[in-house]
Amino acid sequence: MPFWRTYYHLVWTTKKREALIRPEIESRLYGYLESKARELGVHVYAIGGWTDHVHLVVAIPPRLSVAEVVKGLKGASTFHMNHGPAQDAHFAWQRGYGVLSLGEKQRPVAEAYVRQQKEHHSRQSTNSWLERTDETDDGPACMDHPINHSITRVGATLDGKDVAPAKEQESWP
Ligand SMILES: [Zn+2]
Repeated sequence: MPFWRTYYHLVWTTKKREALIRPEIESRLYGYLESKARELGVHVYAIGGWTDHVHLVVAIPPRLSVAEVVKGLKGASTFHMNHGPAQDAHFAWQRGYGVLSLGEKQRPVAEAYVRQQKEHHSRQSTNSWLERTDETDDGPACMDHPINHSITRVGATLDGKDVAPAKEQESWP
């Protein structure tokens, strides 16, 4: 058995961002996602969201990939919401998701953010990093470019023109 502390923040949206997560089905959906996660061996620290998306803070064991966990949770919950006792035949998730890895210090921050989703979305105090999802594979740019690529270019000239320093990106702590 390996030693592991592999925490992630996951987020994905409803199909076409429709307001499908109505108050009357929210607890059933969250409860199902939590039980399905447990069945997969994934620990859920927090779950929350808005009418058109869901966030989870989880620990995914190393034997599982993030992609298969998300696929399992999305697929099973779609089926459950469309075939369960109070069925909602129109429930569907959008393709894609967002995932951020979390360290021990970030995990409680992400947990609080997820639990306070209603407040964040109604007050528009959301964190763009934690809200981001994508249908395409959009990884960090440093996978293609050396990390010092942009640094060496700052202040250099390109076609005789000064290159402005890269704008500081909003960051996830
Ligand atoms: Zn959100």
